[in-house]
Amino acid sequence: MYTISCRRCRQPVAADVYRIACPACGGPLEFGYPDAAWSPDDDEPSLWRYRDLLPVQGDTELVTLYEGWTPLEYSEIECPGELFIKNETRNPTGSHKDRALALAVTKAREFGRDAVMLYSDGSTALASAAYAARAGLHSIVVVGRKVPDYRLLPLVVYGSHVLEFQGSAAEALDWVHEVCQKQGIFETTTYRLANPYSMEGPKTIGYEIFEQLDGVPDWIIVPVGGGATLAGIWQAFVELQRLGQVERLPRMVGVLPEGYEMLATALEQPLESDQQLRALAPPDAPPTIQVKIAMTFPPDGLEAVAAVRQSGGLFVSAADEEAVEGQMVLGAMQGLYAEPSAAVVIVGLEKLKAMKKIKPGELVVAVVTGSGFRETGVINGKVPLVRTPVEPAFGERVIERLLEQTEAE
Ligand SMILES: [Zn+2]
Repeated sequence: MYTISCRRCRQPVAADVYRIACPACGGPLEFGYPDAAWSPDDDEPSLWRYRDLLPVQGDTELVTLYEGWTPLEYSEIECPGELFIKNETRNPTGSHKDRALALAVTKAREFGRDAVMLYSDGSTALASAAYAARAGLHSIVVVGRKVPDYRLLPLVVYGSHVLEFQGSAAEALDWVHEVCQKQGIFETTTYRLANPYSMEGPKTIGYEIFEQLDGVPDWIIVPVGGGATLAGIWQAFVELQRLGQVERLPRMVGVLPEGYEMLATALEQPLESDQQLRALAPPDAPPTIQVKIAMTFPPDGLEAVAAVRQSGGLFVSAADEEAVEGQMVLGAMQGLYAEPSAAVVIVGLEKLKAMKKIKPGELVVAVVTGSGFRETGVINGKVPLVRTPVEPAFGERVIERLLEQTEAE
């Protein structure tokens, strides 16, 4: 069983009514599990092994595509300590967002809603569409203008309606929020003030890391867009400490796209409100291929800043060329095709190495949040593609030369 309370006024809130904010003060909601013990269900190879620590009722029928319990892979990529990759590309739609949406759509059905809607053209849209399809709910995805077709076509395959919003991202978020309230549609945009339930998804990454390592890493590197993933992973270790499972906590490292370093600034000059954070946004969003994490307003950003601060961690940033380099390192050394927005964890690792932060023997976990198979379009022209012409008569000589070259390198 779970409880809900308001983060601002601390009032308890009824758990059996669909609410997204505190009925008394409008503050953000959070969950508690006063009776839960740490007892993962070993027969359940998905995030639902932690069902006792997730906000669903005991008799709820889960909406699942077998998300979570993704591999933690040892890596040979150079690191002063030991490096592990948390491979979130193995989720049903290829990203960690499936965790948040499995919860959200389970709740949509538990509350008897027949439609879900969100503003997103990235991983969250894909996950929302897939889980709505599995649950038999209507799915509406609101996207911005100029989103490439290759990113929208899978939504159509999942049976979603795609609406192109004629206005700014901030206006779209507000509009979706308002329409969902008015029409009784379950909002699946993933930030705390739109969908508190989805916020409990990312923490299962932290639980899994703890189980798979049988301990606490020294560093966890996470790409940061809206902030909920990093904050959720941190929350997992704080809860594990409360449950008496761990004595120490990891240091959290958030990787931001270059030009979108508001959270790094917010870490240095303590901020109180989202308004202050909004004021730090760059006037023009610089173009970037790190499309999944380039946010001018990270809606759960202050939670991520608090997590980084409390953990003694830091934010670093990644330029696009560095993200592509990270992608190629993961591909060639790990056999893992990550999208640039996820491969930035390797950039984070490189920056920590350059700052001599990682000591020999320390455990480092890099969370690779999303698959590159969904975002090949963004690296078009960025990766050195050489088409070596080959004719059947001379082909074998070309191959011999290639292999000699590779050996010499
Ligand atoms: Zn309140």
